[in-house]
Amino acid sequence: MIFRDKMSAYAPSRLTINLSAIQANYRTLCDLASSARTAAVIKADAYGLGAIPVARALSEVGCRTFFTAHLSEAIQVREALPVVEIAVLNGLFSGEEATFREHGLIPVLNDMGQLRQWAKFCRYAGRLEAAIQVDSGMARLGLSPVETDQLLAETDLLKTMGPRYLLSHLACADEPDHPQNGKQLNTFQMISKRLPLCSASLSASAGIFLGPEWHLALVRPGIALYGGAPVPDQATRLKPVIKLQSRILQVREIPVGQAVGYNATFIAPTPTRVATVAIGYADGYLRTLSNQSHAFYQGNRLPILGRVSMDMISLDVSGAPDLEPGDYVDLMNDELDINRLATMAGTIPNEILTGLGTRFQRSYLTSG
Ligand SMILES: *Cc1c(COP(=O)(O)O)cnc(C)c1O
Repeated sequence: MIFRDKMSAYAPSRLTINLSAIQANYRTLCDLASSARTAAVIKADAYGLGAIPVARALSEVGCRTFFTAHLSEAIQVREALPVVEIAVLNGLFSGEEATFREHGLIPVLNDMGQLRQWAKFCRYAGRLEAAIQVDSGMARLGLSPVETDQLLAETDLLKTMGPRYLLSHLACADEPDHPQNGKQLNTFQMISKRLPLCSASLSASAGIFLGPEWHLALVRPGIALYGGAPVPDQATRLKPVIKLQSRILQVREIPVGQAVGYNATFIAPTPTRVATVAIGYADGYLRTLSNQSHAFYQGNRLPILGRVSMDMISLDVSGAPDLEPGDYVDLMNDELDINRLATMAGTIPNEILTGLGTRFQRSYLTSG
């Protein structure tokens, strides 16, 4: 167990991150995409779980290629992991070329301007590796169809650099029957056939579950590594990774008719024992969970009463008469995981993880 910083030892909430579960999920994804290589997406501090410990744990089980969103994230990971491949999805801003080279990072080139810029840099710096992203139908990042035609007509441009990967991203992979999936695969295959030097990579977590034809040379899961079900409501073999607990601040008995919390959205129908717990939406415990979710204490289910406040929630602890101030309750655990909480909050597990705040005692488990 390691603490991130000294002061967090006083934090009333505990976030436990099971690195062994992340490693197990990586292996599960490798098995599912056994014809491809499996990279890991660790953008946004590995979805809030800590890019460096997560990347280290994944490199221990054989992951050699990592993707971040930002250059700054990639530089941090590089300091911890000197030899792995690290690519920056968000691309290359003008003037950053030497920084990419200095840290041995791979830019994902997202338009012809970035391609020419990298080619120009490589003409004097040598053939440096790059990934190229094409837009196969999402209209977010990557070379547009017109630019892709330009690139295919000008493949000499690639001779100046080491083109490593050709990427594209699926817009609808979490809806397996969506017709856009097949269209994007066809579009991407046509482009990748004409750029045989690049390893093709199309699928993130959800794409892996679409089946082998989507795996190509490299898959790029993020959320599935962290226990997020890539397709809503689909049972998977992925393990829950986090446990979130917080402490009881106060316990009170309230009479029939007593309102609880902001805007009096819960009114006690019977005498109720209510506990106030030190976690709220400032910690990423979303306000949309008001009157929706529950916590656990020794197997007892404790429903949330009323609104989630910034730093507190109220729970019905009538079923847990032993609970007292200072005790910990589970807000997330193996039973109530990020997928179930996301459904109750009306969002996706990605937002639950990346929204987790900083006021936690964070600890990393490396076994069990
Ligand atoms: C975020 C991202 C991924 C990983 O997505 P998940 O759905 O979390 O698996 C892969 N590729 C690209 C381009 C991304 O932006």
